[in-house]
Amino acid sequence: MRLLVVEDDALLGDGIRAGLALAAYAVDWVRDGDAARRALIDHDYDACVLDLGLPRRDGLSVLRELRQRGSRLPVIILTARDTSEDKIAGLDSGADDYLTKPFDLPELQARLRALLRRVSGMARPVLEHAGITLDPVAKRVTHHGQEVPLSAREYALLLDLLNHADHVRTRAQLEESLYAWGEETGSNTVEVYIHHLRKKLGPDCIRTVRGLGYQLGGPPG
Ligand code: CA
Repeated sequence: MRLLVVEDDALLGDGIRAGLALAAYAVDWVRDGDAARRALIDHDYDACVLDLGLPRRDGLSVLRELRQRGSRLPVIILTARDTSEDKIAGLDSGADDYLTKPFDLPELQARLRALLRRVSGMARPVLEHAGITLDPVAKRVTHHGQEVPLSAREYALLLDLLNHADHVRTRAQLEESLYAWGEETGSNTVEVYIHHLRKKLGPDCIRTVRGLGYQLGGPPG
């Protein structure tokens, strides 16, 4: 899952980026409204954490333009503006959630999980498919009841495939989901992690759709 964090405060932005990266998200962090606008046009994100008071362009303006383009990207506003009027303006401009500073990182993470769960149409917090379960709170994966230890990248890849279980994911989409800007991707890395997951979860857990990409194998449930 790839997130855009828009925050002009260096200390806070770095803290949010690091905290979300530890939770296995690929995180891009920008520090002004223009950079946010460009990033949202150029990249395919799963969610955005948006500050409102920003240099160059206000967060509300970034949000309104995003919605005018028809984007349904989940957006959580994270701001010091804490009046009821501010919250109404934020939600009415198209935000999905509104969190005021000071805030707890675990609460931001829980709200992100809830939002991503709603978007993926899954009511239950634990993702399940063909004998595989993934608990995003405990970051625990099981296969037919047995716990399976995964590396951070393997976990992130499996989470992406579970969140898009009905779709074939292209290699480019998986790379976008796994890596933030400036991270080394190398060649064949997606294939390497697919190979690791197949070794740990069985050869049929992920099927290769020739010429298109990858999808979870087996019937849901
Ligand atoms: Ca700010």
